Amino acid sequence: MSHDPKEALQDARRQLEIAGSPSPARDASALMDKVQGDAPPWTPLSDAQLAELNRYIQRRARREPISHIVGKRAFWMHDFIVTDAVLDPRPETETLVSVASDTSFARVLDLGTGSGCILLSLLYEVPEATGVGVDVSEPALDIARQNAQRVGVEDRVTLLVSDWFDKVEGQFDLIVSNPPYIAEVEMPDLAPELSFEPRLALTDEADGLTAYRAITSGAGRFLKPSGRLLVEIGPTQAVAVSDLFAAHGFTDVTVHPDLDGRDRVVSGVFPPQNATN
Ligand code: GLN
Repeated sequence: MSHDPKEALQDARRQLEIAGSPSPARDASALMDKVQGDAPPWTPLSDAQLAELNRYIQRRARREPISHIVGKRAFWMHDFIVTDAVLDPRPETETLVSVASDTSFARVLDLGTGSGCILLSLLYEVPEATGVGVDVSEPALDIARQNAQRVGVEDRVTLLVSDWFDKVEGQFDLIVSNPPYIAEVEMPDLAPELSFEPRLALTDEADGLTAYRAITSGAGRFLKPSGRLLVEIGPTQAVAVSDLFAAHGFTDVTVHPDLDGRDRVVSGVFPPQNATN
């Protein structure tokens, strides 16, 4: 039997609305796209396709992120593969890519690279640059490797397991990171979708600043003189993170807003060494 796609779409939207999805119309059309593949939207659905759609609706009704169900998320210039092994790339993180792309760099390090969305987008933007991405999670690096191929920068990237700087070698013009910055006390109030993401990528199980302490204290050893450090922050962390940058000797410490006007990125320049010669 075949089924009217318009009715199926409306029905999906109604079910998702009842289930409390914050974006039922957008979700329904994303799930429908996944079921229909390349077929035009008016193509009738088979029994199997309708059953598949219903399985996706049930998953979404439990508030599983759409990106996990469809397996990808659009970020900057590409669709990135996304699973529950990595933080779901978020539009506000494009602020970090945008600020970083405006600087000049030949060698970039990404701490806690996850899906690789930041690092791989930067390598895409600067075709002569090379980069290193580290993460404590090997399953996350598997996803980053697949994404490197998709973006076509696999020859210019090294991905390795490391706890922040532990296994990092060499000197960089630019260090970027979107570390876990949600404080433990904030975790229970988050949207249900976040419970499907790796907790390790979201929170330090403390005050939300642990990663910034490690990154600002370690970065100096890995930055070339006048190199830059750029980190994503939560909107309430601008002062605390700027203070950490200043305390570790960074200059030109600047807070950059995201497209919603919220504080989102802190940048700083590592001063030239006291070269008296
Ligand atoms: N921006 C994410 C959120 O608030 C948090 C990601 C992170 O901790 N780096 O949902």
